[in-house]
Amino acid sequence: MGKLEKKVVIVTGGARGIGLAIARRFAAEGANVVAAARTEPVASFDPNCGIAFRRTDVADSADVEGLVRFAVERWGGLDVLVNNAGVQLEKTIEDTTEQEWDTLMDINLKGVFLCSKQAVPHLRARGGGVIINIGSYDGFQADPGLAAYCASKGGVHALSRAIAVDHGKDRIRCNVICPGWIKTEMMDAYLSSQSGNGADAEQQAIDQHLLGRLGQPSDIASMALWLASDEAGFTTGQLFVIDGGLTAHAPFVG
Ligand code: NDP
Repeated sequence: MGKLEKKVVIVTGGARGIGLAIARRFAAEGANVVAAARTEPVASFDPNCGIAFRRTDVADSADVEGLVRFAVERWGGLDVLVNNAGVQLEKTIEDTTEQEWDTLMDINLKGVFLCSKQAVPHLRARGGGVIINIGSYDGFQADPGLAAYCASKGGVHALSRAIAVDHGKDRIRCNVICPGWIKTEMMDAYLSSQSGNGADAEQQAIDQHLLGRLGQPSDIASMALWLASDEAGFTTGQLFVIDGGLTAHAPFVG
């Protein structure tokens, strides 16, 4: 029997990268998963794989209402929400337009608010549930040229604690995973923005991780599975940094 047998799960941004790894891991543990994103994956999900796709923009409240209704009508309730959808903008505040700031905040921070707001009544109706938010170490340490992104992730961390405080009484646990550098399209875009030579930049990034490698989406899925499961039944309001040691050390010299 799987660790999430018959649990109903929504994973935003579940069509690729970290979200897809979480969706697949949860489905393999017996969950019924809805993967939500604006674009359907090129290779769409096998009808028997335990994952259904729902086109959703997490910044759009009508879309989010439709997403939660879809999961609840299909499987009779909701047990776990993973707020993973996110975008990055490789700019300083000087270069960021007001429109770009608003768009990023609407996805990375308001999207967490909208999805959680719609999910809470359904989690409560089940006698409790789980919200897992994907934050970032950028929410407490800043990489260069990611101003709006860093601000949005700090907001996600604070909002997660607030959800945990307000809804502990409903037996809803809310925690944050803060990944280090995880090999996805988002990370590749950042590496290209920092250097003409992506391979050099990638090696420099690897050198900052004590374990000598970048993270894989499956590293984050493992943590998400634990947080979603009953094994984490006494855990709420916390940040879990899964970063291969990136934030444990002072700058290397020499
Ligand atoms: P990817 O860019 O590979 O995937 C992001 C996913 O989010 C895609 O499925 C994308 O689909 C979806 N998405 C983006 N905007 C929206 C939206 N408005 N509504 C619904 N879905 C949306 O990113 P990662 O897998 O790397 O990142 C996942 C999360 O992990 C993000 O929150 C990111 O900030 C965080 N993170 C990643 C790190 C890394 O090194 N990769 C490090 C720390 C944190 P579509 O565009 O089709 O909507």
